[in-house]
Parts: sequence; structure tokens; C-alpha cells
Amino acid sequence: MKAVAFTLAGLLGLLGLVFIAGNQGQIMRVVVGLVLFAAAIALVVAVRLQPKIEQRNIVQNLHLTGDVSLEQMQCRKCGGKLSDESVKVQGGAVFVACPYCNASYQLEEAVKW
Ligand SMILES: [Zn+2]
Repeated sequence: MKAVAFTLAGLLGLLGLVFIAGNQGQIMRVVVGLVLFAAAIALVVAVRLQPKIEQRNIVQNLHLTGDVSLEQMQCRKCGGKLSDESVKVQGGAVFVACPYCNASYQLEEAVKW
């Protein structure tokens, strides 16, 4: 998409040059050439200013520090084995909802993103 815009800008600029270079006292050709040039520059600027659309993963992956892995995670209250379904990430914090004892608490384990 960017390459297309730059190619187009290049063509417009070139066309503008041709118009200006081929000028034989015709003010309109200069004007058209300048307009084409301006359009080329505007196109490049527009592409440059375009914010990068980053596709961020909305579903955040859990990366627990240390040797704690989801398989080894146990409920703090009852020691029941927690599956990834009982661990949720909200606002960068890890929340545990134990399916065995219905305990729910925030995991204090620091999370690496
Ligand atoms: Zn529990």
C-alpha cells in the first residue's frame, strides 16, 4: 500500500516536472506542473503521517515469571490445580478464580508481557 502511494507520488512529481520543463511561455502548464508536484508531496506526507495500524493481540498471553507455569499453578486456598480457564487477565493483573472452592483473588506474581 505504501509502495503504491510512493510510486504514485513519484509519477505525479515526474509529470509535474514534464509539465514545467515543457513550458513554452504557457503559465497554465507551470501551474499544472506545480499542482502535480504539490499533490505528490502531499501524498508522501500523508503516507508518512499515517499512523501505523498495529494489530495488537487483544487476547493477552500469560507469561508468568519464574518457574511458575499454568500447569503447576495451584489454588492458594484449597490447593486445587488451576487450568488456564480459571486464570484471567484484566487490566494487566492476573486474576484467579478457583473452580473447586470458588475462591477468587488477584495473583501477585509479576507478569512479563
Ligand atoms: Zn480453590
